[in-house]
Amino acid sequence: MKKATHQQTKQHNRDLVLRTIFAHDSISRAEVARVTHLTRTTVSEVVNGLLTEGLVEEVGRGESIGGKSPILLSIVADSRYLIGLNLAQDKFIGAVVNLRGEIKEVVEEPVHDDNGEIALQLVYKILDQLTRKKLKPIVGIGVGTPGLVNTREGVVVTAVNLEWQDLPLSQLLEKKYKLPVLVLNDSQAAAIGEFVYGGEHVPDENMVVVNVIHGIGAGILINGRLFQGNGGGAGEIGHVVVQEDGELCRCGKRGCLETVASARAVEKQMKMNSLADVVSSFDAGNTTTNTVIENAGRYLGVSLANLIATLNIQKIVLTGDMTRFGEKWLNAVRESMQMGALTRIAEGTKLEIGKLDYRACILGASAFLLLDDYSLLFNEEN
Ligand SMILES: [Zn+2]
Repeated sequence: MKKATHQQTKQHNRDLVLRTIFAHDSISRAEVARVTHLTRTTVSEVVNGLLTEGLVEEVGRGESIGGKSPILLSIVADSRYLIGLNLAQDKFIGAVVNLRGEIKEVVEEPVHDDNGEIALQLVYKILDQLTRKKLKPIVGIGVGTPGLVNTREGVVVTAVNLEWQDLPLSQLLEKKYKLPVLVLNDSQAAAIGEFVYGGEHVPDENMVVVNVIHGIGAGILINGRLFQGNGGGAGEIGHVVVQEDGELCRCGKRGCLETVASARAVEKQMKMNSLADVVSSFDAGNTTTNTVIENAGRYLGVSLANLIATLNIQKIVLTGDMTRFGEKWLNAVRESMQMGALTRIAEGTKLEIGKLDYRACILGASAFLLLDDYSLLFNEEN
C-alpha cells in the first residue's frame, strides 16, 4: 500500500474533525481529540482552518473538568446548503436544507400519472427554482426516489410509478447543475433522515425505518450505516407476496404487501379517492374503516416479524402516510409482529412512529451526500 501523501492525511484529518463536530451540537477541541484519536495539536490546526473557512464557530464555554472551562465548537448551520428531493409522495417536494437539517425553502410540484419524461422535467423545474434562491453556496443535491436504485452508479434501475427504467439521474443532474448528486431509494433516504435528525442519535445503532406510503419500503441501518444489499434492493418488502391470488399489484404480481397494507390499498378498499377521506372516516369512528385499517396494520406486522426474525434489529421506526392512523394502527402492527416472531425477539423490539414525516426523505437524501463525502464542504463557490 502506498503511503498517504501529506495532502491526503490533511484531508482525512479534516473530514474526521468535521464529522465529529457535525455529530455534536457543540464540542470542545479536547473532546474532538479524544473521539478522533488525533493529537490536540493536529485538532487545533484543523479547527483553525475550519474557523477561517467559516464552517465552524466558537459558541461559548463548556463545563470545566478541573482547570479552565473549554471553548466549545459548533458547525455554522448556514455556512453551506444542500438540496434534498422527495419524489415518493403524490407530489414532488424539493428543499434547500442547511447543515443542521433545517429546511429553508420548499418547492412542490403536483404529480399525476406522468410518464418518465414529464416526471424528469418536473425534477428540473423544482431544481431550477431551488438553485435560483438566494441561499448560497449550495454544495450538492440528494434525491430520494421510489423504486430500485443503483446508488453507486446514480441510476434509477426501475421506478414503476414514474415510468423510469435505467435512468442515469445523477449524471443528468450533475451535468445540468454542475453539482455533486446522490440518488437513493426513498425509504433508505427516510431511514437516514430519521437516524440523523429524528431523535437521540446513537452513532453505531442498528435501526430499520419502514416507510408506508402509497408504496412500502424499508431502510436498514447496521452499525449506523445504510445497508443496501448487493443490488441496492435491501428493504424492498413492499413487493413480497403475502396473499396468494390477491389483488394485482402495479409490479405485475398478485397479493404483494403493498396491495393490502399501503395507503393506496386502504383507499382502494374504502373506495375513496384520497387518504384524507379515509382518515376522516376513521377519526369519525366508522367501524368498516376501523377494520380495514387494523387489517392493513396486521399485514404489515407479519412482514415486520419476518424482518426482525432475520435481522434481530431492535429499533423499528414507522414513517409515511399510514402513520396518520396513529396508535390504533400502530397497536395492530405491533400485536401481529409480536404474534409472528419468537417472543424473546419480539419483546426486545421497540416499534415507534417517526417524527419527520415527508421531511425524513429530504433530510436523509441531503445528509447522505454529506456523510458520504465531507470534502463537499470544500467547495467555496458554486
Ligand atoms: Zn408488487
